[in-house]
Amino acid sequence: MKIGCPKEIKPQEFRVGMTPATAGEVVRHGHDVLIETGAGMGAGFTDEDYIAAGAEIAPDAESVFAAADMIVKVKEPQAVERKRLREGQVLFTYLHLAPDPDQTRDLIASGATCIAYETVTDDRGGLPLLAPMSEVAGRLAPQVGAWTLHKVNGGRGVLMGGVPGVGPANVVVIGGGVVGTHAARIAAGMGADVTVLDRSLPRLRYLDDTFGGIFKNRYASAASTAELIATADMVIGAVLIPGAAAPKLVSRSDLATMKPGAAIVDVAIDQGGCFETSRATTHEDPVYEVDGIMHYCVANMPGAVARTSTIALTNATMPYLLDLADKGWKQACADDPHLLEGLNVHAGKLTYYAVGKALGIDV
Ligand code: NAD
Repeated sequence: MKIGCPKEIKPQEFRVGMTPATAGEVVRHGHDVLIETGAGMGAGFTDEDYIAAGAEIAPDAESVFAAADMIVKVKEPQAVERKRLREGQVLFTYLHLAPDPDQTRDLIASGATCIAYETVTDDRGGLPLLAPMSEVAGRLAPQVGAWTLHKVNGGRGVLMGGVPGVGPANVVVIGGGVVGTHAARIAAGMGADVTVLDRSLPRLRYLDDTFGGIFKNRYASAASTAELIATADMVIGAVLIPGAAAPKLVSRSDLATMKPGAAIVDVAIDQGGCFETSRATTHEDPVYEVDGIMHYCVANMPGAVARTSTIALTNATMPYLLDLADKGWKQACADDPHLLEGLNVHAGKLTYYAVGKALGIDV
């Protein structure tokens, strides 16, 4: 099979769908790999790295789309890319179709077979191709929050770990799932005093058993949330209610109870955010102030660390990619019901129920 990987063209997207290591693995399985020139540059991979791994370099995206049986990407195809897809071609990438009727219509019209990273499942009810990006965003949250706390950035001027004789920063993480656990670990590693709030008792038990001596946890009642944010230097929002907008757990009036210059990092902003005062920002202008509280609300945090994110993502996608290439999408999906969950569009039809329900399209 010929696998093609074009350069990402969505603004501020520096990740790439295949690393040289992925390309090498696919070539070792007997397939051809075609990479658009410069596709890996944003993540620090040169054309020469891909050539050394056995891939061919294509001069532009058009020739990648024209020659490949399967296209591997990171972000959903943009309008110009969607026009290049054709019947029988396989597309393997993040799609996020539910809020995107234009893309859905174009993918249906293309006749291509479109498998979305974000709906592939695993045996434990998790989303294995979303988890690596939650790990990245979680670990990044205390890092950007620490920067936001700098005085010159509008913050309280508090150092995460304190110093001998001066106490550490007080960090509260709301939501103890993948993002929250990774955020708490890093904040604690920086020396901060960390408490995680969650509504799931099994999750709190797990956090207590695993990280009991490293960070604290509390049940996320309205009272405990209010009590903890009042003394926090940094509050990280990391809640998720699958398939729904994030609940607003901190209101604008609650900000008045917080310390002036405290930092909010709302990782859940891609689901609308869990602070009433959150609005999505970009890497170019990530932080704004409301009532003396600094807000960091970047919706695509992993893009800031494109190299780490690319390697983390491709580590997770590679086994599925190899299966799709070795067996063809039909057999690979027949053998693996979790991969089949990723099938969103096939041969002019929408095949994913939740997207059809959201957009009012027959499945
Ligand atoms: P997850 O499902 O692993 O964890 C969510 C946790 O929130 C669960 O433990 C759940 O019990 C808890 N929760 C739900 N409602 C709660 C409430 N009212 N109070 C306290 N806890 C509550 O999800 P995740 O992978 O950790 O993702 C968290 C959020 O981060 C999601 O919105 C996800 O889309 C987002 N995210 C954003 C970026 C970004 O770049 N901004 C990147 C990755 C993930």
